[in-house]
Amino acid sequence: MKHLMRSRANPHIRELLAEGGLSLAKLIQPIFVVEAMSGEEDIVGLVDNRRMGVQAALRQIESDVKNGVRHFMLFPVPAQKGIAPDPGADIISAIKGAFASDIHLWVDTCLCSSSPLGHCCLFQEDSQSKIDLEATLNTLGSYARAYAGAGADGIAPSDMMDGRVAAIRAQLDQHGHQDIPIMSYSTKFSSAFYGPFRAAADSTPNFGDRRQYQIDVRNRTDALNASMRCADEGADLLMLKPGMTSIDLLKPIFKKTSLPVGVYQVSGEYASLALLGREGLTDFNAALLETWHVFQRAGAQYIITYGARKGHDLGIALT
Ligand SMILES: [Zn+2]
Repeated sequence: MKHLMRSRANPHIRELLAEGGLSLAKLIQPIFVVEAMSGEEDIVGLVDNRRMGVQAALRQIESDVKNGVRHFMLFPVPAQKGIAPDPGADIISAIKGAFASDIHLWVDTCLCSSSPLGHCCLFQEDSQSKIDLEATLNTLGSYARAYAGAGADGIAPSDMMDGRVAAIRAQLDQHGHQDIPIMSYSTKFSSAFYGPFRAAADSTPNFGDRRQYQIDVRNRTDALNASMRCADEGADLLMLKPGMTSIDLLKPIFKKTSLPVGVYQVSGEYASLALLGREGLTDFNAALLETWHVFQRAGAQYIITYGARKGHDLGIALT
């Protein structure tokens, strides 16, 4: 069943998913907010993006809102590793307390920032290979519930575990959050383009890699099935990442699911353009804008990009 009401009820989502040209309302700005951090620090490679404490984040968001950014993807980074009941909920309350409905706050929901092992799942005791799916899904569901309770406008699960969208939907519905949409990281490839992000979110795995639960870039069928699975489980929006290496899948996935499909222009994609610019090999802003137009041409209905806050300077209108 398609939840058209849920994904159209909020005016920010209506603008995000409106058909038509590129607008600021279709760009989502990631923000990394670190609990207990005072001030901010640079993220290597991610020009114009920083890891911030809450106060610095509030100032940044205020300036972004003035520049027409409406959608944010929050990565809450807990001060300490360990599976707490609601890591980052205070950050959400502070942001929504300050900006209310001026912004639409999506919250990345995963275990890799809080898990001592840096993986997106919990493992069975004494095992570094057998995923404890039940415990993982329960924890993800309780994070989602806590985030919605703290004021999150949307939940964005990024772990890629089987069953997590259904588990999160069930917990949200049971606790009165039927109106909160789920934007699922539905087709997430194992990729060499995630480098700068892992430092920013403090989520580098302690051992192994994520090939057990991320998709091999050679496998088109897996890629389609992963998004269809999320659609079947009740996702409201689907998302592919990395962006540029997934554009061939946007229209096929939309055709199969009829759900809005967007892309995440990941840290390595953004940083590579910034580096070309810094070396004087290209015009960074022009290259960035070109990629956004390509995403749209390929069928992306929204774009998560570290450059959203530059959109205004690139001449993109709010709607
Ligand atoms: Zn993760």
